[in-house]
Amino acid sequence: MLLEVHDIHVHYGKIAALKGISLQVDEGEIVTLIGANGAGKTTTLKTVSGLRPLTSGSIRFQGRDISKVAGHKRVVMGIGHAPEGRGIFPGMTVQENLLMGAYARKDDATKELDEVYDLFPRLAERKQQFGGTMSGGEQQMLTIGRALMTNPKVLLLDEPSMGLAPLLIKQIFEIITTINQRGTTVLLVEQNAQQALQIAHRAYVMETGTITKTAPAQDLLHDPAVRAAYLGGD
Ligand code: ATP
Repeated sequence: MLLEVHDIHVHYGKIAALKGISLQVDEGEIVTLIGANGAGKTTTLKTVSGLRPLTSGSIRFQGRDISKVAGHKRVVMGIGHAPEGRGIFPGMTVQENLLMGAYARKDDATKELDEVYDLFPRLAERKQQFGGTMSGGEQQMLTIGRALMTNPKVLLLDEPSMGLAPLLIKQIFEIITTINQRGTTVLLVEQNAQQALQIAHRAYVMETGTITKTAPAQDLLHDPAVRAAYLGGD
């Protein structure tokens, strides 16, 4: 098992955001977390990457307990995070933004840069454009590209399709599949449950800080309760 989250509890002050979440991600998988607003999906990713501390429970990565390992060390270990809301550096160029993603590397990142430009030709065309002047979709590509610069073993993707036009949403999901096929494991948080379930191997359904269901993604696509709650289904 690449990543094992066991019974984690996470608080914001007195508010319990995660109330005993357990999940596993195996090497090579795309696993998606779906659920309503405020269910705790973003908090789960932030806790895995070390941006939020645990109240209790444990996180293991490649068999090692990383619950107390600092976030910047988790990056070096192979946990890449493309956070929600983009968070690029607006006054830096596209290329500088990407190279910031490689700050933790000891070797040079030419190979990763080439791979990111291959995945996102739009970024290659605009290497010298300031990040802040890129369109919403382009900034989303830049966020994912920056997370890939550390050559992560697992990529945590938070709402990569948020705010994008339908054609671009389709492209982003295709790119996630390509990233996975090239060898990166993916833990994907999405409001767009339909498309997330179509590309994922397995899924977890979250409600108010707990996991209420887990199954192969294809099964959830046909699950009447999931269809009614998250897929706008019949
Ligand atoms: P969304 O789909 O709306 O992004 P989510 O499933 O990702 O939701 P989280 O963002 O993880 O949910 O939030 C889980 C709970 O924690 C929510 O009740 C939210 O209000 C609360 N929360 C999140 N961030 C903070 C914060 N910085 N301070 C206080 N409460 C927070």
